[in-house]
Amino acid sequence: MLAVAGIASAQNPAIVAHRGYWDDNAQNSIASLKKAQEFGCWGSECDVHLTADNVVVVNHDGTIGVTDIQTSPFKEVRDNKLKNGEPIPTLDEYLDQAAQSETCVLVLEIKPHANQVREDMVIHQCLEALKAHQLLDPTRVVFISFSYYICKELARLCPDFTVQYLEGDKSPAEVHADKINGIDYHYSRLVKHPEWVQEAHALGMSVNAWTVDQEKDIRKMIELGVDQITTNNPLLVRQLIQL
Ligand code: MG
Repeated sequence: MLAVAGIASAQNPAIVAHRGYWDDNAQNSIASLKKAQEFGCWGSECDVHLTADNVVVVNHDGTIGVTDIQTSPFKEVRDNKLKNGEPIPTLDEYLDQAAQSETCVLVLEIKPHANQVREDMVIHQCLEALKAHQLLDPTRVVFISFSYYICKELARLCPDFTVQYLEGDKSPAEVHADKINGIDYHYSRLVKHPEWVQEAHALGMSVNAWTVDQEKDIRKMIELGVDQITTNNPLLVRQLIQL
């Protein structure tokens, strides 16, 4: 068992369910997180936003119908339902389920917010929520973000945790220079820059690839030696790893 979730290793890639294992369910639902846990995924990814009145909610898109999450009060956000009938989960509700598994790592994507004040607030709220659920633990959580500021802040506040930058516009050495210890790049960036996997590993960084659903792309990421594969198809990735 790895001491720190997401640390570079020479093992087969670990499987991260993208927005939970949702194939017959709703993305980012509690039911999809539960399925990822039951399937034995190494990790399960979710996306979070802060409402205007500072409630962290789990959803991918910044808008639900006509409701803009980050500029709306929680009450309005909550009026919306996921397609499986669940209400839009708060991070607290989601973490109740995350805590049910002792093994499935929560890969927590904190979405960019309007400014640094809001990004500081969403980071603070996430860390407090994780702490309250006894999940603020580097073996239980990996942080990811497209916001470089959020990644740098998390690396500063949580130096023992894996933090992976998502945008794909910087080399591992550039990211490492800012004390961020991982990358999580679209697989096409890693195909274009296969040397980045070795470069990251030589710097002690972890490499995650999103969102890898097709057999040829999954095979390529296995061949490149990434540490995690984030996928909408955990079953296919598992089958290909086991070949
Ligand atoms: Mg995401």
